[in-house]
Amino acid sequence: MSYLVLARKWRPKTFAEVVGQQHVLRALVNGLDQNRLHHAFLFAGTRGVGKTTLARIFAKSLNCEQGVSSTPCGQCQSCLEIDSGRFVDLLEVDAASRTKVDDTRELLDNVQYAPSRGRYKVYLIDEVHMLSTSSFNALLKTLEEPPPHVKFLFATTDPQKLPVTILSRCLQFNLRRLEVDQIADHLAYILQQEQIAFEAEALRALAQAADGSMRDALSLLDQAIAFAGGTVSSEIVHQMLGSISSEHLDNLLIALIEQDGESLLQQINELAALGRDFNTVLDMLLMALQQIATLQMIPDSSASNDRTLSLQSLAQQFSPENVQLLYQIALHGKRDLPYAASARSGFEMTLLRMLSFQPMQIQLPDREVPLKKSQPTESKVPSAAPVDLRQPEPRSYETTTQLPDESAEPLTEPAITADEPQTQASSDNQTAEPVSPVVEPAQPQLSLSADNWTSLVSQLRLSAISRQLADNCALVRIDGQRIELSLAPELAHLATDKARQRLQLAVSNQLDQTVEIIFIDPADTPQASPTLAIERAEHESSRQQQALQSIHNDPVVGMIKKVFNARIIESTIKPLNH
Ligand SMILES: [Zn+2]
Repeated sequence: MSYLVLARKWRPKTFAEVVGQQHVLRALVNGLDQNRLHHAFLFAGTRGVGKTTLARIFAKSLNCEQGVSSTPCGQCQSCLEIDSGRFVDLLEVDAASRTKVDDTRELLDNVQYAPSRGRYKVYLIDEVHMLSTSSFNALLKTLEEPPPHVKFLFATTDPQKLPVTILSRCLQFNLRRLEVDQIADHLAYILQQEQIAFEAEALRALAQAADGSMRDALSLLDQAIAFAGGTVSSEIVHQMLGSISSEHLDNLLIALIEQDGESLLQQINELAALGRDFNTVLDMLLMALQQIATLQMIPDSSASNDRTLSLQSLAQQFSPENVQLLYQIALHGKRDLPYAASARSGFEMTLLRMLSFQPMQIQLPDREVPLKKSQPTESKVPSAAPVDLRQPEPRSYETTTQLPDESAEPLTEPAITADEPQTQASSDNQTAEPVSPVVEPAQPQLSLSADNWTSLVSQLRLSAISRQLADNCALVRIDGQRIELSLAPELAHLATDKARQRLQLAVSNQLDQTVEIIFIDPADTPQASPTLAIERAEHESSRQQQALQSIHNDPVVGMIKKVFNARIIESTIKPLNH
């Protein structure tokens, strides 16, 4: 007897044998048992998830000689014939090969005739989205007024391509991809029945590679059985798939944690010698990092098994930011792999890149307490940054933790913290609070001149309009008690009598002597002092320039730009307040 492939041999014959798709099964079983049946069903889902299998079992349930029920007997003539694909009233059509309208007409011509053997005539049209528009029209006529003895079962991988008129006349079921666990468990069950020894990890690897499709998983299992000739071991399966064992994978991750370049290179050599597919290995690395990241956020997120336990231990040794960074590097490495001179060199570069970069070596200052620029040593205490969970201290950590120690330069921070509340008065500040950026200390007996005018203005207790007025005035001349100020013509509206009086009072208080303030036309006096507003604007602009410069010159930013092909958004750079 010829060998029957597993996918056919183990095709489920009853609803109870179907793996997964419980939501669809429940609806079908209820419909059958309560005899409330629609005349057209659409099963949508990717390949190998059980669309036609469900349709066939459904056809059996309708035509079993024991009566319509969700549990066809499987023994009667009808059941046996449907199982072996010989039942005359089950018309299976692959729309992919019959798209012409004539084909559909021919198919539908017989719709009005009663079934020759069974209770219902069942049309099973696979890949129904492939039908032509005119075929759909022919089909639509029948769907609008279906004879009572006809049921339509459509299967498609692409329901979006079906006309709305067809969709609206069908009861639609969306079949899901199967979980890795569901597939692995089913493979284990089949191998037990077939009396073939196996290793659990081998089945997980196969299930992973099948990407949600049971049919693909069974084909791979066929291949693995043929390849192994005996036990389906993880070694055999990894060899077949070009993947690596979870032990290998963990060793790669441990070498990354321990910053052990030598071990990493040695392992890559071994993988190359074993002929493993580096693209697949990179996929596995990505998947492991994703699982680790999930475990770090939600420790109880997956069922506890050996694999989870070892991932959990890795999750404790990586910092969450590090996992995120490694994931990004792996993702970019995968993208660039086709361009690398060889898959191996591309893989090796990706891992070396992972070794080179440690995230956030420059600790950002604490959000609550802005970092004082005069105390750069404070930055060595990681305050706001998450605790580093790695046990072994990475080599590059100490050397790069130093903040740039040109303490005169304003500290800068990247866009991620741009929303930090600004505490310093900005140039258009109108409040009465004393503003700080001017260095001159308070001097009650200030003798006034063009040189210290802005310093005086910054100390005045003013608010609203009078503050704005003071900030924008230039000192022209002092004549005894009389102070002559000028104001740009476009700001002349600020010089109201009230504002002038307030300013006069504030200056008198500050100088401890009564003064008189008058405004003169700036056109008459080309020589005047700077205004506080202009000084501030210049100061801000130079701080901004310094901030831009220090971001552009930052080696870490430079590396990030290179590695991730990143671009600096200059508008998000702000000088750090201090
Ligand atoms: Zn039967």
